Amino acid sequence: MTTNVLAPATQAAATGAGIACESDSIATVPLAEERAFAYWQQDIPAEYWRLAPDELTARIRAARRALRTRAIILGHHYQREDVIAFADEKGDSFKLARWAAGHPESEYIVFCGVHFMAEAADILSAPHQKVVLPNMAAGCSMSDMADPDDVYSAWAEMEEIGIAQDTLPITYINSAAALKAFVGAHGGAVCTSSNARKVLEWAFGQKKRVLFFPDQHLGRNTGYAMGVPLDQMVLWGWARPYGSMGGQTREALERSRVILWAGHCSVHQRFTPEQVADARRKHPGVIVVVHPECRLETVRAADLNGSTEFIARTVAEAPGGSTIAIGTEINLVSRLAKEHPDKTVFCLDPVVCPCSTMYRVHPAYLAWTLESLAAGRVVNQIVVPEEIARDARLALDRMLAIT
Ligand code: SF4
Repeated sequence: MTTNVLAPATQAAATGAGIACESDSIATVPLAEERAFAYWQQDIPAEYWRLAPDELTARIRAARRALRTRAIILGHHYQREDVIAFADEKGDSFKLARWAAGHPESEYIVFCGVHFMAEAADILSAPHQKVVLPNMAAGCSMSDMADPDDVYSAWAEMEEIGIAQDTLPITYINSAAALKAFVGAHGGAVCTSSNARKVLEWAFGQKKRVLFFPDQHLGRNTGYAMGVPLDQMVLWGWARPYGSMGGQTREALERSRVILWAGHCSVHQRFTPEQVADARRKHPGVIVVVHPECRLETVRAADLNGSTEFIARTVAEAPGGSTIAIGTEINLVSRLAKEHPDKTVFCLDPVVCPCSTMYRVHPAYLAWTLESLAAGRVVNQIVVPEEIARDARLALDRMLAIT
């Protein structure tokens, strides 16, 4: 069954309390020694809790061999090094979901990433394939900020105000299947950080205004790059009570071109224009590239912005000897630095902190998942109910047709 996991760190972010870094280090230690283990999913057998890194590696490799081509392991760019090392394919969420869709030969898709990604893989994969998320507590705080009940309630309010009929909902792929289904059922589409502009251009051809979920920053950055004035992009405060129009006036909503859902990524919101200025001061000639989930002022201060795939390409294509400061999750930045020793690659944020929910896929969960599958037991399967998958597929298919 699919579950919308709200882990403690996610709850903290959703309530505005902020997320502290859950990991002291990105080096591998036994699961039980990771500082935040007490808050994570613990329902894996105790035998996995204290396995040393080399024991985990040996057991993962053995299970992998036993499964042969029956299983594929997909790893998101933000996964920790000790997990991505086992991935058959690496990429961003959309690339991996498409990859799963194009490989119906594998019975099991073990998705090392977060919950919404595994849902997208389940929606796009063939009916006989089973998608497995190694740790069910690996959610995404941004995705959880657009709870379906809040979305339905906001839409009902927009219908009451009389703006819903001129408004097309669009959701970033970083959202729950239920939200994708809502968007699909209302004529809208999914977008990614690489195609958000094309999808918004299409949307403005359909309706006067867009309701953009769940990342306000990607929506604002994209609208701004397209020339939508900032005063025509308004924020919908989903935590406000019904009847408060998301904290806006009727006039502001009627005048708006983009209504931004008040969601954000706690990792990317950490990057600031001051960090960009600091990097420029310390490294004259530095190229600054950030993810569009960063705040507008940070994106404006940077030289370039784009998806994780874009960031990886920028580093790969930069001439040897370049210095590149990156505003995205630390596991990807560290990997890029290692892969390009002829360049100086570093993270803009001096406080190195991984995405705390991605980080929950410790190798112990991967070992448990693979060994269970090899023994004929499917654990942690993500199944999106067909009535949700059908409408979510509509929104995904529209994106594919647009881009
Ligand atoms: S980096 Fe941000 S958007 Fe990506 S999974 Fe983590 S919290 Fe979610």
